[in-house]
This record gives sequence, C-alpha cells and structure tokens, in this order.
Amino acid sequence: MKNAFKIIVALLVVGSFAFVAPKDSKSKQITVVIDAGHGGKDDGMKIDDVSEKEIILNITKKIKFQNKDKDIVIHLTRNDDEFVSLQDRTNLINKIKPDLVLSLHVNGIKNETASGIEFFINNENPNYEESKAIAEKLNAKMVKNHSLKSRGLKEARIFLLRKSEAPAVNVELGFLSNPNDRKFLTDEKQQSRIASTILEVITEMK
Ligand SMILES: [Zn+2]
Repeated sequence: MKNAFKIIVALLVVGSFAFVAPKDSKSKQITVVIDAGHGGKDDGMKIDDVSEKEIILNITKKIKFQNKDKDIVIHLTRNDDEFVSLQDRTNLINKIKPDLVLSLHVNGIKNETASGIEFFINNENPNYEESKAIAEKLNAKMVKNHSLKSRGLKEARIFLLRKSEAPAVNVELGFLSNPNDRKFLTDEKQQSRIASTILEVITEMK
C-alpha cells in the first residue's frame, strides 16, 4: 500500500512536470521520409559495376543510422535492395504525412563533363514554397560542406514530387558519368559526410 502510494505520488510529480514543463518551445518533432530511388530490378543509373540504387541506399541508411535525435523520426521507402513502385512509395508517404520527403538519386548522361548536384521541385506539389525553401537550404549547405558545384534548383514533373502531400525535393547528388563525381559518390567517407549534411538540414527544420 505504501509503495503504491509512492508510485502514485511519483506519477503525479512526473505528470505535473510534464504539464508545466520545460517543453523546449523551439524544438518540435520532425518526421522525414527518405526515399532511396530505384532498387531491386531497377538499378537506376549504372556505369561499369557501380549502380545508383546501391550508392543511394548506402547514403540513406547512413542518414537513418547517424540520427540520434529522438525528435527526428526518419522513415525509409525501402531498407534494402528491393523494388518498390512509385505508387507504393507515394502511398506510404501520404500515410505517414511527413514534414519532408527527400528523394535521393544520382545523375548520369553521355557527356562525361557534366557534373555537380542539382535539385528538382514541382509546382504541382501542394507544399511547393516549402519544398523550394528546403531545396535552397540543402543546396547552400551541400555546396558549403563539400565544395560541390551546383546546377541549382529545377522544375520537373516527377511523380513522387507531384503526388506527395508533403514538402518534397528530389536531390541528384552528382553524376555517375563524371569521373570526379563518381569517385566522390562511391567513397564511403564521402557518403557519410553527405548523410550528415542532409541530417544537418533536417535538424535545422525543428
Ligand atoms: Zn534516379
């Protein structure tokens, strides 16, 4: 009985703390979906033995692993080398209703000289202005932290951007077709650094 009383008092104390409490007014919980492009039968860009789906999954997992902030909840559209349709990805996103969707990709074209990061947004997205603001932030941070060349923000009618009912940005992290970019993108240390830069921007959203 005595113990039960103690527990009740303890609960009341905890409860009252929760009520008055130092809820840090500046911080809030942020939910983010990181969409690792492609997967399974869909390699995405592939040059020699290096595939987009692999690079992107590595970076995506690093973002999730590096996150130690309980106020940042990270969901992935795929955890593995599996094929997930765009419709399924968007359905998941719209079920989660996140504060942000980042769809990660790498570029590749015939012209080997093309290089740099670029960002796609779409004005059919219901949170277009927010998407744009986040893309600008990410762009600035990536250039600053990694001395990367940026090709800037572009408009594109990308399914996931159009159909996500949340701010959404498609990030192209470099060109697999460019030797320098490829070296950067396939370097494990650089992948970790990219992940921490992305996490930095997410943290600033709180
Ligand atoms: Zn892609």
